Amino acid sequence: MPNLAETSAAPSPLTALTEEEKMFQDTVRRFARERIGPHVREMDAAAIFRPDLLREMFELGLMGIEIPEEYGGQGGSFFQAVLAVEALAAVDPSAAVIVDVQNTIANNVIIRWGSDYQKRRYLPQLASDMVASFALSEAGSGSDAFALATRATQRGGEYFITGRKLWITNAGESGLFLVFANANPEAGHRGITCFLVERDFPGFQVGKKEDKLGIRASSTCELILDDCRVPASNVLGEVGKGYKIAIETLNEGRIAIGAQMTGLAQGALDHAIAYAKQRQQFGKPIAEFQGVQFDLAQMATEVEAARLLVYNAARLHDAGRPYVTEAAMAKYFASQVAEDTASRAVEIFGGVGFTKDFPVEKLYRDAKIGRIYEGTSNMQRLTIAKGILG
Ligand SMILES: Cc1cc2nc3c(=O)[nH]c(=O)nc-3n(C[C@H](O)[C@H](O)[C@H](O)COP(=O)(O)OP(=O)(O)OC[C@H]3O[C@@H](n4cnc5c(N)ncnc54)[C@H](O)[C@@H]3O)c2cc1C
Repeated sequence: MPNLAETSAAPSPLTALTEEEKMFQDTVRRFARERIGPHVREMDAAAIFRPDLLREMFELGLMGIEIPEEYGGQGGSFFQAVLAVEALAAVDPSAAVIVDVQNTIANNVIIRWGSDYQKRRYLPQLASDMVASFALSEAGSGSDAFALATRATQRGGEYFITGRKLWITNAGESGLFLVFANANPEAGHRGITCFLVERDFPGFQVGKKEDKLGIRASSTCELILDDCRVPASNVLGEVGKGYKIAIETLNEGRIAIGAQMTGLAQGALDHAIAYAKQRQQFGKPIAEFQGVQFDLAQMATEVEAARLLVYNAARLHDAGRPYVTEAAMAKYFASQVAEDTASRAVEIFGGVGFTKDFPVEKLYRDAKIGRIYEGTSNMQRLTIAKGILG
């Protein structure tokens, strides 16, 4: 029998990283711990992500991971973006979602669907100093995203967009917005088109910023488009392709939300382990009580299972294999694990876990969003059911 491990066809364990991936992960972990860590509490309270840290994320290449080197990016893989989001989320899930939306949503859409002109104009900026947002949701269209009411009308060589977008991540900082509007309502969802809208285009305005339960340092704002003038050269892909662009992008992006939730859960588990070893009750560390050990064991098992689902979906994606069902499973499961793990971590900390003096209450608040954005848990279950039922 040939030794499978010695043949090139031997499959690797899912958590095995290449040398390059490991170095990248170590760099992001160190940055998260040393640079972001000291500011997490203050940024959560102020509901602001520090501009100096955002600049450092650009300098480290974290905002242009998959942008090809010819445009000033890192030329990395989707899997590397997933590793970055996971590592950041263990310290601050807000930092993770800023990087997540920039890389796995905005940059990816332009890399994949952008014209040469759009790539030349936007990718170098996105790799160096410009944040971007993905604007699909509206007050009346969330899960039913393609019922959107924003309209685009062509006049001469320009489009004029009117409507309101809600819940737009990164909008406080973004210079570029991928706005979905219907350019041909009679065609239903086949009229939906994606436009590249710059912040200073006439008729465009960032509206109210939401005051949120969690991921408070990540900005979430309304967008107001009032006859907003967009050159026809800023139509992404083609008129009517917005539906396909949005679906395919979100299918991929939700793997990174799974990574955000896995990182968050790992962060909560790490805090719980450290605290359990140090907190004494009944004359010994609480980590010596079997009841506490069982909780930690359960948490560790669930975090590992979430990571395996996320890494598997990301590796399938990078291998060009079907991954849509696996991506939905990863997001669905990891967001549940994040909520459960953070909740147990609060309990292991006891009373102090319920205060802002310790980091687990924030992770508990931050976890809730995992089951809502980029498709609620019910929408993930619909995708999974469709995948398994055929
Ligand atoms: C912090 C934050 C950041 C966000 N960032 C962005 C962003 O950057 N860009 C963007 O475009 N959007 C963004 N969103 C919007 C987000 O994607 C939507 O909130 C989400 O898709 C749910 O839509 P909704 O809020 O309208 O809820 P609804 O669609 O109204 O859902 C309400 C409830 O009904 C359930 N439900 C709805 N339809 C069905 C069904 N068919 N079967 C079973 N259950 C169903 C849902 O599961 C949910 O529990 C963000 C939201 C938040 C809160």
